[in-house]
Amino acid sequence: MSNANTHVNVVTESLDNIQRIKAVAPGLHANGACALCILRATQVPIGPAYLQPQADIHRALEIDTSVASTASACSLCLSILSPDIFDQITLKYKEQAFDSSTVCISVELPKSIYIRQRSMQIYVKSAVIDLKDVIKYISGNRIAEACDVAIDGDSDMRIECAFRHEETLLDHQFLVDREGSSIKIKSFRKKGIDYTTGDSLGAVLAELSKCDDSVVASKFGSPPPLVKTAAEIESLVFRRASLFIGGRYLKLQRNISQTPFVVDGKRMTELSVSEVIGEPIKELALCDSYNLVGSGREDADVRMLGDGRPFYIECINPRKTNISQDLISQIEDQLIQENSPVQCRLLQIIKPEDTRIIKEGEENKTKHYCALVWFASVLSKETLEEINQVGSSEIVLQQNTPIRVLHRRSPLVRPRKLLRLEITHIEGHFYKVRIESEAGTYIKEFVHGDLGRTSPSLSSLAGGIVADILELDVENVSLDFPPKSV
Ligand SMILES: [Zn+2]
Repeated sequence: MSNANTHVNVVTESLDNIQRIKAVAPGLHANGACALCILRATQVPIGPAYLQPQADIHRALEIDTSVASTASACSLCLSILSPDIFDQITLKYKEQAFDSSTVCISVELPKSIYIRQRSMQIYVKSAVIDLKDVIKYISGNRIAEACDVAIDGDSDMRIECAFRHEETLLDHQFLVDREGSSIKIKSFRKKGIDYTTGDSLGAVLAELSKCDDSVVASKFGSPPPLVKTAAEIESLVFRRASLFIGGRYLKLQRNISQTPFVVDGKRMTELSVSEVIGEPIKELALCDSYNLVGSGREDADVRMLGDGRPFYIECINPRKTNISQDLISQIEDQLIQENSPVQCRLLQIIKPEDTRIIKEGEENKTKHYCALVWFASVLSKETLEEINQVGSSEIVLQQNTPIRVLHRRSPLVRPRKLLRLEITHIEGHFYKVRIESEAGTYIKEFVHGDLGRTSPSLSSLAGGIVADILELDVENVSLDFPPKSV
């Protein structure tokens, strides 16, 4: 209380025409308006006066607060402007420890607030300073001070606060009951819960704008009726734009899926590339969750060798985005030290727009494969030479959707190019086959023919000898990623 006088001065000095305000303030107070709502209702522009303790504002306006009002909460803002609300928002934001230098705040108010604002405007015969703007101003100042951030409407760090107030849930009933009302309420039951629709904020505001002042004053009241309870924070959500970390991954063993492979709650592979790389990234970025997006994917039983497959990890709602390249590179080193079957390279923060390269590359990249193939009988030298001859130039395959993916892709014949095909004999029935193909080619199906659904196939090129693929490695994915400019 030692600096109460300075507060009074701030309030007094920031108020133009204080005599006009003093004249109406007691009336507003008696009708349940809090100190800040008195400023709003007397058109005090948003500024430092709104940051002062309510007691100081009362004192500056010479309002006798010992005269008990029958209201326990503000009838205009439903006590959303109480210090307690701003303490909650500031404290919760601080706890999350986001390293953002800016924030923006969005507010969702109960419908009754808008009706009460209109009712007060009729009473004071003038516009009332908008509650949302006041909430944003005060909470912005409080958070800026407590967390050293700047308020910026374009910030990628959003604080979303929604309020609810049981007591005034039916404030808009007079608008619903009005003759010719455009609000059409529908009630229905879903999974044992009762719902009503039709009285959305938009519908209520549209109907309210059609009402004459006299209708609002007589059907609802002006000034707004007193309330006993304060509104509460219904939800407080902190949303930050994703952080993207790109790189290339290698899979040195088989039976590792790209993302967790779970069927009916049972894990089908012990490891996934996504978790091996994503978990340490999650620890760095302190994000809620993450997704790995690869430039295509190999089956779990296919290794990914060579320079690795381009990918990025999207960190959802990261607390930290100022992460040094050193810390990121340590993840690569750690995986090498642990002898992990999943490795990564060129791991780095990328720009959100760089994720496009992965999606666009989907169509125009080429891939190099190496397969271990078994033939039902040994191929003659001539057959081998013939296959290599055909394979030295481009081969166009007609590839019908493979049987094994028919459950998720519609049946369609797609032409796919093999840019190069080379076969060498290992021993007995075993052959090594190197293939360079355009994106989207099903290699396993090219080898065995998929019951005639892929044509030609390695089996058909060998004169119809049954062929089966035993092992497959991806040796290279030709896509320049992550971009060097980063
Ligand atoms: Zn208020």
